[in-house]
Amino acid sequence: MVRFMNVTKSYGALVVLDSLDLDVAAGEMVSVIGPSGSGKTTVLRMLMTLETINGGVIYVDGKPLTHMEKGGVLVPASEKYLRKMRADIGMCFQHFNLFPHMTALENCMEAPVHVLGLSKKEARERSLELLQMVGLEDKVDQHPSRLSGGQQQRVAIARALAMRPKVMLFDEVTSALDPEVIGEVTNVIRELVDKHNLTMLMVTHQMGFAKEISDRVCFFFGGKIEEQGSPDELFGNPQKERTQQFLSAVM
Ligand code: ATP
Repeated sequence: MVRFMNVTKSYGALVVLDSLDLDVAAGEMVSVIGPSGSGKTTVLRMLMTLETINGGVIYVDGKPLTHMEKGGVLVPASEKYLRKMRADIGMCFQHFNLFPHMTALENCMEAPVHVLGLSKKEARERSLELLQMVGLEDKVDQHPSRLSGGQQQRVAIARALAMRPKVMLFDEVTSALDPEVIGEVTNVIRELVDKHNLTMLMVTHQMGFAKEISDRVCFFFGGKIEEQGSPDELFGNPQKERTQQFLSAVM
């Protein structure tokens, strides 16, 4: 579903992604862990097309993300093509980025109406169903300022899902939350993994969370995957010295 092929990203002399190859299969939950500055968030930002690519190609559902095929060659994508590709990718951030002047329901309805062109009725039904799925059916008419951090993050997850993305990206979605509400957000994500078969890529500093819900964990170092495997393999029996050092420092 997602494929980074030989992707390089630099800022001046600083190489942040170094010929990165990364695959996420349809329905797979992949977590990215690693030291600060190893390029984890850059991977998500590139999938959001927030960053230009210096080399290589990213494919989403078989189509190049930032380029389009014309006469058998890849040329830079038009704005229209990029908009279409972006609609396949849902994102939840550490800071929920909800619209403060809108209720939970209005937050979820906004993009389906204005980007997908759904009728208000359809968007409302879809949004209510998702808010129920994240356990907020009694909060649909509340504004974000009246919701706890965990509830706001659950609205943000419902809002991203309302676009029916092919891929969901989670960037440190629990790190701005108080410890007592982390569980409610992790439970929602776990339910998405277990019941909804979504394709997900998650950056996290919480090893317990990555261990519990991932199909595969990738340890990043220096803009590359140093080691990857199932949570049991990577956390239980890391092979590379850098992985061992990182895990012994953070666990
Ligand atoms: P963290 O765990 O601290 O969030 P990370 O692994 O997610 O780190 P990235 O945010 O991907 O790291 O950043 C990788 C490197 O790229 C860092 O050294 C960062 O300073 C640098 N970087 C990121 N964005 C820019 C930018 N716009 N201009 C210059 N350097 C940048």
